[in-house]
Amino acid sequence: MTILIIEDEEKLVKILEAGLKEERYAVDTALDGEQGLKKALSNEYSLIILDIMLPKKDGFAVCKELRDHQIQTPIIMLTARERVEDRVTGLNAGADDYIMKPFGLEELFARIRAVLRRRKTADSDIWKIADIIMDKNKHEVTRAGVSVPLTPKEYRILDTLMTNKGQAITKRRLIDEVWGPGFKESNNELNVHVAYLRRKIDGERAQPLIHTVRGVGYLLKE
Ligand code: CA
Repeated sequence: MTILIIEDEEKLVKILEAGLKEERYAVDTALDGEQGLKKALSNEYSLIILDIMLPKKDGFAVCKELRDHQIQTPIIMLTARERVEDRVTGLNAGADDYIMKPFGLEELFARIRAVLRRRKTADSDIWKIADIIMDKNKHEVTRAGVSVPLTPKEYRILDTLMTNKGQAITKRRLIDEVWGPGFKESNNELNVHVAYLRRKIDGERAQPLIHTVRGVGYLLKE
């Protein structure tokens, strides 16, 4: 979990960085809005702490540009100004939460945890890749609008692949996710379930979504 801090008060950056590292987050920093925007556009962060009053580009503009680029990383805005309008402007620009300076580190940590938790539940409802839709609340999968009935193991395999779409997942990891960590399940058993899953998901389609990565495991991609 890496958090990006975009803040121009170096003293505050140092305090935040030390505090977050103690909470076992990895931390990256930017001292002005332009640099912060550049970093947030080119790296993956779990969360961004974004000051409003920044040199070169203010926090509202940074936030808005990120959202315009479809970057959905959670953002907590910081401000010294005690103005209600700022809160509204910040939230309108796409921020997830807002914290007023001066604040205690414990308060910030609590906000960070809350935002990450909220994001997780909001994100985890419905997953989509190509024309597959997985509704995690209902435990339902459809492909091109047609319901695909899956066994619990097939569902968990697909769930793991969808949650990590575009990444090769090792067989060991899939076995851990589906049968439980450390379970002595053989690759053969897994391969059989994947074969069934493939038949149901990809069937005879010309462009399959489930791919074998030789010597590694499986990958779901368009
Ligand atoms: Ca500032």
